[in-house]
Parts: sequence; C-alpha cells; structure tokens
Amino acid sequence: MVRLPDKRTMLMFISTTRKEMKELGWDRLDIILITGDGYIDSPFVGVAVIGKIILNAGYRVGIIAQPDMASGDDISRLGEPRLFWGVTGGCIDSMVANYTASGRKRKSDDYTPGNVNNRRPDRATIVYSNLIRTYFKKTCPIVLGGIEASLRRIAHYDSWSDTIRRSILFDAKADYLLYGMADRSVVELAARLKAGEDPRGIRGICYASLSIPEDCLELPTFESASQDKAAFTEMFHLFYRNNDPMTALPLAQKQDNRYLIQTPPAYALSGRELDAVHDLNYERELHPYYRNQGKVKSLETIGFSIATHRGCYGECNFCAISVHQGRKVTCRSRASILNEARAFTLDPRFKGVIQDVGGPTANMYGIDCARKEKQGCCPDKRCLFPKICSRLTTDHNQQISLLKALRAVNGVKKVFIASGIRHDLVMADKKHGTEYLKQVIRHHVSGQLKLAPEHSEARVLQKMGKSGRETLLAFRERFFDLAKRGEKNLFLTYYLIAAHPGCTDDDMARLRSFVLGDLQFLPEQVQVFTPTPSTWSTLMYWTERDPFNGKPCFVEKTHRGRERQKEILADRRTKKQQPDRSKNYYL
Ligand code: SF4
Ligand code: SF4
Repeated sequence: MVRLPDKRTMLMFISTTRKEMKELGWDRLDIILITGDGYIDSPFVGVAVIGKIILNAGYRVGIIAQPDMASGDDISRLGEPRLFWGVTGGCIDSMVANYTASGRKRKSDDYTPGNVNNRRPDRATIVYSNLIRTYFKKTCPIVLGGIEASLRRIAHYDSWSDTIRRSILFDAKADYLLYGMADRSVVELAARLKAGEDPRGIRGICYASLSIPEDCLELPTFESASQDKAAFTEMFHLFYRNNDPMTALPLAQKQDNRYLIQTPPAYALSGRELDAVHDLNYERELHPYYRNQGKVKSLETIGFSIATHRGCYGECNFCAISVHQGRKVTCRSRASILNEARAFTLDPRFKGVIQDVGGPTANMYGIDCARKEKQGCCPDKRCLFPKICSRLTTDHNQQISLLKALRAVNGVKKVFIASGIRHDLVMADKKHGTEYLKQVIRHHVSGQLKLAPEHSEARVLQKMGKSGRETLLAFRERFFDLAKRGEKNLFLTYYLIAAHPGCTDDDMARLRSFVLGDLQFLPEQVQVFTPTPSTWSTLMYWTERDPFNGKPCFVEKTHRGRERQKEILADRRTKKQQPDRSKNYYL
C-alpha cells in the first residue's frame, strides 16, 4: 500500500549531502539511490518518485546523481546505507540515452545538468553497481530498478552489441531487481529487509536462485534462447503473456548454473494510491547541489506538467510501455489533479502555463475496461488493434470535463496537451470524440497537433500493431474542418518511423507519396527504428520473423540501408513531389 503523504515529504529535496542529513538529524541512511540522471525532484522522474515514496513510508533515504566514476568521492559521500542501495540508469535506458539509432554518440542529454551528454556511463546500471562494490566490499543488498533494469530483466536482444545478453541482474552482480514502476514493491522490500525477512516472496522482484521454486513456469534457458531464434521467440511469448498481475505465473530462466526467478508483477496502484504518489510535494527543480553544473532541459517540458494517468492500452509493437507500466490504465482523481494545478499557481516560478496534461497517451484518461479490472488483460486479444475493442469505454467526457476545470483554475492561463493523442480513440468515440477534438483545437494546442501514425502501408502497420490510414485521414478531415470553423490556423505534424521490421525502400517511397499527397505534409524529422530491449518489434528485428505467424519478415539491418529508408522520406531535393503549400498545407 502506498501511504498517504505526511509532513516528512512537505516540499523538500531528498538528501544528497551530509549537511542535509545532519539538518534532519540523521547520522546514517537506510537507503541510498544512485541514478544516471541529474537529481530532478519531479513526479516525472522515477528516482524522485521512489525516493519520496520510501521517505514517506518512514525510511531515511538519500540520492546520489550521476556519481563521478574516476574516484570514490561521490559514491561514498553519504556513507553506507543500512538496508539497501537502489540503482537506476535513469529515466531512459543508458544506451538509448547515449546513442542514436545509427550508433552515433548523442551530444546532448535532457536529464543532465548543462545538457551535455558527458555524465551518464554506457550500461549505467551495471557500472554503478560495480562502483558500489569497488568502494563498499561487503555491503548491504544492491537492488536494481528503473527502465533499463526492468526491460533487461530476462535474456534480451541488445542491438548495441548485436547479441542476446543475460539478465542485467547477473551482469550487474546485484542482489535483487524490482521491475515495472516498483512503487509498491520498493516499500515491501524495505519493510522485509528492515525486519530481517527474506524479500523473495514479494511481487515484482527478480532474484537469482540455485533451484526453481514450486509453480514457476520455466522459460527456455538463456543458452538456448541466445543460440536458437525459435527458442528466443518462445521465451518472449511466455514472458509477455505472464506480465499481467491478475494472471501471471512466476517465471524461471536458467542462466549458466543459476536460475533467474521473476515473481508475478506487483498489482497496479489504485487511483487513490496514484493520487498519493502525486501528492508527495515535489520541488519541480534540480537539486541545488547540482545547479552549478547548469540547467536541465527536461524541466522546460516536465516542470509544470501534470500526469493524469499511467499505463497504455496501445501495445504498439515497438513500445515497451506495456512491459514496464502495464496494459491497464490507472487514473488519478479529478480532485488530486486540480489540487496539483492549484499548487502550481502558488509557485512564484509558474507563469500560468501548464505545459502538458496527459500520460503515455493523453486521451486515455477515464477510459476503461471492466474485464481488465476483474480478470486482467485478454491473453489473446489487444484493446486497440486491429480494431478498438467494443468493451473499452472510449468516452472522452471525463477528459473534457477535467480540461474545462483545469482551465478554470484561478491563475492558470493556458493548459497544453503535449502528450500524444490516439486519433483512433477520438474517432471511435461517437458520443464525445468531436467535442473533445473541438476543445483540444480551441484551447489546448498552439500551432500544431502531433499525431503518431508511424507509417501508411498496411503491411508495415500490421507489424507495428498500429491502425490504418483510413482512420488517420478521417481524423485529419475532422480536425481541419473543426479548426476552420473555429477560425484557428492550426496544422498537424506526424511522427513517422523508417526501417521498422517489415518495411522496405518501396514502402518508404509509398509512405512519402502518401505523406506529401494525402497529408500535405513535408517530413523533416523521421525516426529510424531502434531495437530497444523487450519489445515485439525488437524480437522481429532479431529473428527476422513475424512472431505472431512465424513467417519470415524482411528487416533492413544495414546501417546504410536504414539511413537510406529515412532519406527516402525526408529527402527535400525532389521538388516536384513536395506539397503545394497554398493548398491546405495546414489550412
Ligand atoms: S500508444 Fe504510445 S505509449 Fe501507447 S503503446 Fe503505443 S507508442 Fe506506446
Ligand atoms: S476485453 Fe477488450 S478492452 Fe478489455 S482487456 Fe480484453 S481486449 Fe482489452
């Protein structure tokens, strides 16, 4: 149970220096969290959220952000914790944060003070665990968490080394790994360690074992999964299917002479518990200790934004959110969201603009499925693909009402929606979809609305798990019609992906003519597909087969070929194919 906040967490940073510990009268911490991001105290930054939750549960906690690797000064500056070290690579997998899809080193890092990408080591979770062991020989347990650990918890394809890697728990030589959002499991882990009890029974944990506990479903071994693509595919199917807290079995995978054991996922927080997490009073600022290193860019977008829910029904094949956050959407209460907005208006830094109201997808707030609540997700059916399930309540009325109430908060001048909008959900809502879109156009976008169709070709969209172009075109027509009626000069931009498994040069050429012709849009930024750990698309990339029917699937793997696909779409030289801007380019 996530506790309701008490005064320990009233607007304060978590300690990152001895001086702060002293001010709290603490000589030793219970838990020290190490992160690959700068310490930004925000509800959008996992380490801050986990830190506040365990602080609120009564533990003494400290954070060390981006410790210096060349000496022990940083890692030892708070001493040794009593209960455990918590290690995360940060908000993004460190390899994704450090390299582009084409393998080039990224220069900037939105979560590093100064915005220069020079403080997050590659494979940060492993590196930080080693750093701890270097300076604290026989220390308390090292516990991994965050997206990097979560998505690398079993054998996984790692595109940066082009190999199947073992669980990160083994590579980091850590004691436990908490996967998923971990807000419930981290409190249980702390309680068990404090009581001197074995934490291996809690949900949402991975650990190493010499034998398989009863009732565990055994996955193909690491050895077979790394050598045989069919075994790897079978492993991923079993792993994915056992990801719902209502139905999942414990899993075991033999890796060398030990087993990785994964207990079933932690139950999703209730709406009330999610409120409690967001009510923990975040400073929404970089900790002062790190401020002389420069500003963090991410605060420009997350500083005064509001998360209304967590989870996503989308299950796009290239996205890992369902493996990390789950396929269930949990919403905060309207009162908690409005209280957060009211609190913004009391902050002297707030200029009246809420930068975003949303979640992984903005328009899933208040949308639900009764079956999921009681029996868990359908094992053999998706909520949005190939068509929107009739049991999903697609009604946008709650969102309309929430947005209206946010606009009415005294001191709020503007409320933006920057999170992506699922246009297929809007179109599926026959009752309030048009009204929602009207509200979005009138009040919540400035200049442009971003959509993520990703592609136009049915074969490629099927590999992505995304809906077809017909819905997109219908949405586009409605959008421009409403914008015109409201006399708004708005336009649509589109996220598009090149080199996704199943996509050929010809598909990209067809996408180009669709985008220039039907969408009247000139693509400037095109994302090249990155095979990140633990997604269906990455499985397709590695095996070159469609995991759902076993058939061979073309995959462009060469660096040149992947870049070529991108250039086919983003090529600005072919003048005659460019859209006529005078004709409804945006209006
Ligand atoms: S809709 Fe967005 S957040 Fe949801 S699964 Fe698809 S890409 Fe991920
Ligand atoms: S019944 Fe439909 S909406 Fe509910 S979990 Fe199953 S597929 Fe998703």
